[in-house]
Amino acid sequence: MTVDKTKEGCSGCEQVATERIATLRTGIVVCNTCPDWMLECEAREWLQRIRAKGPRNQKEGFLMMKELFESIKKRRGLAGAQALQAEILAIRGDK
Ligand SMILES: [Zn+2]
Repeated sequence: MTVDKTKEGCSGCEQVATERIATLRTGIVVCNTCPDWMLECEAREWLQRIRAKGPRNQKEGFLMMKELFESIKKRRGLAGAQALQAEILAIRGDK
């Protein structure tokens, strides 16, 4: 019998966690130490910070995103920055 990891435990890593679980915006259940979940939390945090600064228009919002992108890129490289940006855009699209 195969275990359906989307229903039981974390589908993001090998852990079969029954506590400390989190649900991603996609509805996938993972444990709360999973990279997927960390990324989503981080993206929400950044989006909140950008909103708190209150960009007056789309262009200003875009520039803030670009600034964030560059600073993440310096620390984590291009792939890391792209992953975070994609997540931020996806979350923003939810609302
Ligand atoms: Zn996990």
